[in-house]
Amino acid sequence: MYLVESFLSIQGEGKYAGSPSLFARFGGCNLNCKGFGCEFTSPLDNSKLIGCDSLYAVNEKHFKSEWESFNNSQELFSKITSHVKDINYLPHLVITGGEPLIHYKNPVFCGFLELVLDRGFNVFFETNGSVNIDFDAFPLYKKVRFAMSVKLSNSGEKYKKRVNKKAVQSIVLHAKEAFFKFVLDKKIIKQSAKKEILDITSGFDMPIFCMPLGKNRAEIKKNASSVVLFCIKNGYNYSDRVHINLWDNKKGA
Ligand code: SF4
Repeated sequence: MYLVESFLSIQGEGKYAGSPSLFARFGGCNLNCKGFGCEFTSPLDNSKLIGCDSLYAVNEKHFKSEWESFNNSQELFSKITSHVKDINYLPHLVITGGEPLIHYKNPVFCGFLELVLDRGFNVFFETNGSVNIDFDAFPLYKKVRFAMSVKLSNSGEKYKKRVNKKAVQSIVLHAKEAFFKFVLDKKIIKQSAKKEILDITSGFDMPIFCMPLGKNRAEIKKNASSVVLFCIKNGYNYSDRVHINLWDNKKGA
C-alpha cells in the first residue's frame, strides 16, 4: 500500500463541504484523466506530465518515489491518526486518491479500515465509481459513505472505462450513504453535460452535486457561474471547491 499524503483540513467539495476532515490519499488509479489538463513536472525525469489535479497520486511510474509504503495496517493507522492526536473530536475521515477502491481487497487496507471504524471515524470514500466492490465478501464497505465522482467525457477517458453502472448500482444499494459529484466546464455544459449526467444517474434517487473544473482559483472562477446556472436550470446542487478558493493549488490542503 502506498500513502501519498495525509493531512487535517476541511472537506472542500460535495455534500459535506466545510466539515473538518482528515484526508488519507492513496497512490494509484485505474483511470488517467488527461482531459482535465493539469500540468506537473515529473520528479523522475523532469518531463512535463498532463492529467488531473491529483496526478501526483495517479502516476505510479513518475511519482512513486514520493509515496510512502506500508505493509502493516497498525502502522498506517498510527501515521494517519497522528494528525488528530491533539484535537478533542473525531473529524470525518476521507479516503481518497487516485482511486482508493483499487485497493479494496488489500489486507493492509482492509485492516486499516477496520481500525478506523473501530475508533469511531465516520469514513468517506472519494471514488470514481468504476470499481465493482464485492460487498458480500467485504461487508466492511457497507459501513462507509461514498462520494461518487463518475467521470464525464471532459475527463478524456473512454466511456467503457469510466462508466461502470453495475459498480455504481452496487454502491448505491449497499453503502451507508452515497451521492454523486460531477466536474463541469463551460464546454461540456454547452454540449452534453445534462445527457451524460442523466445517463449515469437515472434510476438512482441520490443527491447530485456539480462543481466547476479547475486546478486553481482562476480556472474555478472561469467555470463557476456557468455551473451555477446549469444547476439552477436542472435542479442539481452546486458545490464550490472551497480548498482551491482558499489555498489555490497548494498540495496537502
Ligand atoms: S479518476 Fe480521479 S484520480 Fe483518477 S485520474 Fe481521473 S480524476 Fe484523477
